[in-house]
Amino acid sequence: DSRAADRKVDSVCPYCGVGCQLTYHVKDDRILFVEGRDGPSNQNRLCVKGRFGFDYPNHPARITRPLIRKAGVPKGLDPAFDPAAPLTHFREASWDEALDMAADGLKRLKVEHGPAALAGFGSAKCTNEEAWLFQKLVRTGFGTNNVDHCTRLCHASSVAALMECIGSGAVTASFMQAEKADVVILTGCNPAINHPVAATFFKQAAKRGTRFIIIDPRGQSLDAYAHLSVRFTPGSDVSLFNALLNVIVTEGLFDEAYVAQHTEGFEALKAHVAPMTPEAMSGACGVDPATIREVARVYATAERAMIFWGMGISQHTHGTDNARCLISLALACGQIGRPGTGLHPLRGQNNVQGASDAGLIPMVLPDYQPVADAQVRAAFEELWNTPLDDQPGLTVVEIMHAIHDGTIKGMYIQGENPAMSDPDLAHARSALAQLEHLVVQDLFVTETAQFADVILPASAWPEKDGTVTNTNRQVQLGRAAVPMPGEARTDWWIIQEIARRFDLDWHYDHPRDVFAEMKQGMPSLDHISWERLEREASVTYPCPADDEPGADVVFSDAFHTESGRASFSPTLPLPPDEPIDAEYPVVLTTGRQLEHWHTGSMTRRAQVLDDLEPEAVATLAPAEMRRLGVEPGSALTITTRRGSITLSVRTDPGMPEGMVFVPFCYAEAAANILTNPALDPFGKIPEFKYAACRLSAA
Ligand code: SF4
Repeated sequence: DSRAADRKVDSVCPYCGVGCQLTYHVKDDRILFVEGRDGPSNQNRLCVKGRFGFDYPNHPARITRPLIRKAGVPKGLDPAFDPAAPLTHFREASWDEALDMAADGLKRLKVEHGPAALAGFGSAKCTNEEAWLFQKLVRTGFGTNNVDHCTRLCHASSVAALMECIGSGAVTASFMQAEKADVVILTGCNPAINHPVAATFFKQAAKRGTRFIIIDPRGQSLDAYAHLSVRFTPGSDVSLFNALLNVIVTEGLFDEAYVAQHTEGFEALKAHVAPMTPEAMSGACGVDPATIREVARVYATAERAMIFWGMGISQHTHGTDNARCLISLALACGQIGRPGTGLHPLRGQNNVQGASDAGLIPMVLPDYQPVADAQVRAAFEELWNTPLDDQPGLTVVEIMHAIHDGTIKGMYIQGENPAMSDPDLAHARSALAQLEHLVVQDLFVTETAQFADVILPASAWPEKDGTVTNTNRQVQLGRAAVPMPGEARTDWWIIQEIARRFDLDWHYDHPRDVFAEMKQGMPSLDHISWERLEREASVTYPCPADDEPGADVVFSDAFHTESGRASFSPTLPLPPDEPIDAEYPVVLTTGRQLEHWHTGSMTRRAQVLDDLEPEAVATLAPAEMRRLGVEPGSALTITTRRGSITLSVRTDPGMPEGMVFVPFCYAEAAANILTNPALDPFGKIPEFKYAACRLSAA
């Protein structure tokens, strides 16, 4: 039987934050197929990516030896460059030569310009151990806190609001708790596309009677399961949420006892939202006052209610304000800390929670401990036996600006693709081209690697051991199932080799050694050990004892704040940074597709997934298609103040008129050429969900 595996290896899906457990069926050192396992977040289910997204490690464009840019080849995206034949622009090198060159270039810049001339992007596609080592290298070797990763582009604003109001950036309850809720609000998220297995839990909950309220400018397939579907004007989230709070306050729907016992600042919030009646806010948010009242009443009067949100909430210049409002709703109604209640920002990447916990964030050390806190720094200085910078570092988009202004001159980028994922790509790409020294560690010559001086061939997820932490705070073990091709190496080994060239005395023999060190700096990992994960596959943090599964729901008694109380943070509606106008009359919004993952570096090299969605496509409301005179499949040009792309167009009845959606995975029509780099002032997240554009038939 050609389908008979010669071994089976249990692991975790490398794509989204749901963290489905799976089993690789391996034959002759290749993955034959993948099966869902009975993990807590998937119960044997997998989506199309988890099922079919595993042949990318064998793609012919995989780099299997270190590469060094040939002398005289200019940096940048050369349209004639073939990533599958990189030797036109790069030459192969030994590991020693490539590592020496990678480290020497960075060390030279540190000596000449100081530690702040360097920066690093780690990756939420790597393990917790790799994230820990990467940020440790940047802080102790480079000597700067300029280390960040894609959380800055996804939920940084949610984390900023959660840290401020409840003292913890992680979810307060798993998505499985939706099955115990009477009411669930889904807002700014499209789980059937972006968290497909979580969506199956939502469907099961709806079938058993949970009432779903879906609040979004766009329609989605889960609307079919909703008690209420509320479409609002793009960018008007704060107006709508404040109107909901107004109803809860004026109708006395808040939980007086909960507010008195667990929160502070409610009187100020009450006064703040008093003028923001449904009638006053209806014009701005495009929702009629009766619907606003109904949503507020259904949520506030539920025995148990949860709020889930995604990047429709976070990726705005008012993203932190959006999340503050959602937190206020839950606190005012006491919908937190009990089974079937809570706040859950649905995490994007499979390890964005873990990479953030492990410290790939410029203003905090692992477990969100501020770099500016002398006591915190002293503890890590003792653990790592190295002095640490006391200044918070720069964030993703700030780093691109700092390259342009000449402050940052060298970077180490591991597994991230800012030449596709950053807003205003012309600006980001010209920054990358301007770097004096760029080291990229990846599987392929990605768009970002095309700017590199040195490219280090890394390991794919099914080729390495390590832990990951999903959206539910479940720490899970990924296991190597197949060997790395050629001379590719595990990411932790490569980081260690660079660290040694920075004279750091590192001696890790296996990721479990790194995990043991992490436990010394991360209280969140108490009672979670590598050996335990090998036995149990998944343990949730915080975990109170070695024989407890961990807390699915947190904050039943006190919050992680100094007073133990949560706080309300009143917000004022602000317009989008770039409102539509006569010249650019359409709202551009960007995001993911079910079949493709982020910048497409893995899924566009997975045969079945790329066959399912093979070409760049924008979606429009049917009426918008008619207005423009375009048919499904015709070419559409989208132009913003930053650039222009042309791609195929498709109709989507869920789209509102006056809006276009573009997935950001297609290099040939890169959505981020168009996006606005304006940042939320707190989370420093760009406004990917709103830019003014104009459309024309191409
Ligand atoms: Fe993988 Fe997410 Fe799909 Fe699960 S839902 S199989 S974790 S992509």
